Amino acid sequence: MLERDHAKCKVTGVSELGLVEMTRKRTRESLEHILCEPCSQCQGRGSIKTPVTVCYEIFREILRQHRAYDTETYLVLASAGVVEYLTDDASDHVAELEAFINKTIRFQVEAMYSPEQFDVVLR
Ligand SMILES: [Zn+2]
Repeated sequence: MLERDHAKCKVTGVSELGLVEMTRKRTRESLEHILCEPCSQCQGRGSIKTPVTVCYEIFREILRQHRAYDTETYLVLASAGVVEYLTDDASDHVAELEAFINKTIRFQVEAMYSPEQFDVVLR
């Protein structure tokens, strides 16, 4: 038992106090396990990518699809924040990309998507 939980428990000594501390830590961890689930936004990392980063990932994905498939329009599905960024602050970059690949890029807000989640669909 001790060996198996080695990574999770910080045993400071063999004193009774140490054992109490260890038990308390384990109880807290299992309660956390029961009461919590991984954060759907950051997958437990504690931070998420900014719309700027996601925006460049979307551009890279469009360029990748541009080389791989022949289509007239791309539909980008993303969270509200990312779509807002793409159609406002990044609209010049979108226009440049459209001119470069000679294709139209449309955007659609997917309310269920996390800020990091997106899909590029051929239309
Ligand atoms: Zn989180």
